[in-house]
Amino acid sequence: MELRLSTELAKSDKSPSQIARVVTENWFGRNMYCPACRSNRLQKTSDNTKTVDFSCPACQADIQLKSKAGRLGKKVRDAAYHPMIQRIEKNSSPHFAFLEYDKDLWKVKNLLFIPGFFITANTIERCRPLSGTARRAGWVGCNILFSRLPEDAKIFVVQNQKPISAAFVREKWARFAWLEPQKSEARGWATDVLRCVRSLGKQRFFLAEMYSFQQELQNLYPSNKFVKAKIRQQLQVLRDKGLLRFIGKGVYEAI
Ligand SMILES: [Zn+2]
Repeated sequence: MELRLSTELAKSDKSPSQIARVVTENWFGRNMYCPACRSNRLQKTSDNTKTVDFSCPACQADIQLKSKAGRLGKKVRDAAYHPMIQRIEKNSSPHFAFLEYDKDLWKVKNLLFIPGFFITANTIERCRPLSGTARRAGWVGCNILFSRLPEDAKIFVVQNQKPISAAFVREKWARFAWLEPQKSEARGWATDVLRCVRSLGKQRFFLAEMYSFQQELQNLYPSNKFVKAKIRQQLQVLRDKGLLRFIGKGVYEAI
C-alpha cells in the first residue's frame, strides 16, 4: 500500500479544504479494498450522494470517508443529527473511514474504520442548534464520540504510517459482523458492556467490577430498571460470540 498522496491533484485553484478532499478521496479510491468482504476495490459514489462516498460493488457496504490534516481528536463532526439517529434506528448507518494525513509530506499517517454497526445512539452527540444569526439557523449537527466506542470498533488499516495486512483487517471486521442485523438497542447494550469490559484493562475480571459501571449504564439507559441483570445478560452474549470465557464464581476472562 503506497501512502503518498497524489500531489498532482493539489495543483489547482480549488480551496485548501476542497484540495484535501479531492486528494484523499483519490488515494482512498486507488488503495482501499473492502474491509467487509474479499472485494479488492471500492467504487466512488456520485458527488450528490450526501452521506456515502464509496460503496463495495460486491457486498454493497457503504463507506463515508472523513479526512483531516493532523490528528482526529476525541470526536468527529458528522452531518445532521436527526437523520443520523433515524439511520441508526433503521440499522442503515454507513461505515466510517477516518483518514489522518500529513499535509507537509502529503502522506497518509493513519486510516481507521469504524463499522456502521458500532454506531449507536450513545456514540452520537447532539450539537447545539446553530444560532439565530447563522445562515442555517436552527440546524442541528452531531458528533461521533470515539470515547463511547470499545477499542474493538477502531479497525486500523494504516497505523503510524504502517499498513496493516488486509487479512488482519478483515478478520477484525468479521469478528463483530454479528452486530449488523441486531436492533439498535441490542447493539447499544452489547457494545456499551464490551466498552466497559475493555476499560478495565485486564484479561481476567470479576462480575463485581462490572457492576461498578451500573450508574454509568443507567445514565445511558434511564428507562431500564434492571441494569445489573442486563450486564449479566450482555456478558453471556459476549461469551456466546466468543469474546469472553466464564471461569466460574463471578470470574470472567476476555479472549
Ligand atoms: Zn464488500
